[in-house]
Amino acid sequence: ERLNIVRMAEGIKSRLEPVYKRAIHLKSPDSEVIVEADPDSLDQLLKIFLDNAYKYSSDDITIEIGKDGDEVVVDITDQGIGIPEEDLDKIFDRFYRVDKARARKTGGSGLGLSIADELAKVNGITLGVRSRVGSGTTFTLRFDGVKE
Ligand code: ATP
Repeated sequence: ERLNIVRMAEGIKSRLEPVYKRAIHLKSPDSEVIVEADPDSLDQLLKIFLDNAYKYSSDDITIEIGKDGDEVVVDITDQGIGIPEEDLDKIFDRFYRVDKARARKTGGSGLGLSIADELAKVNGITLGVRSRVGSGTTFTLRFDGVKE
């Protein structure tokens, strides 16, 4: 299904801001950016990254939508505790949580990102992550270009 990801992100922003009581900044050069995906999957996917951004930070969250050639790139960025380099390749595994102390404080099952990984695969979305301990994390969703 063809979706305008900007409109979708606007919807999620207005749904979650009152719940989080925090700003979610939405940046996009265009008001319409079309991707091919299942709407429920994409909604769930974005929600997983936003919930994590909320849990592991205490500042504003940013969703940035852009293009890289034919591809559409969506970055979700927080300014939170970050993820140590040695854990980055494991966080998408089932039940993996970065450390027990963190796990106790925030609750959660360690399943969110493994579900995100599955949803991304089924929808042909490539996930990426970059992070720095103490300064924050960006998760990236990359969609193939949609033919006009
Ligand atoms: P839940 O399944 O309820 O979301 P969870 O947050 O522990 O629980 P995942 O979403 O799979 O599980 O995340 C795995 C681990 O990756 C987390 O426990 C956390 O340590 C780390 N993590 C995920 N997102 C972030 C983030 N934005 N900032 C810092 N650490 C993160």
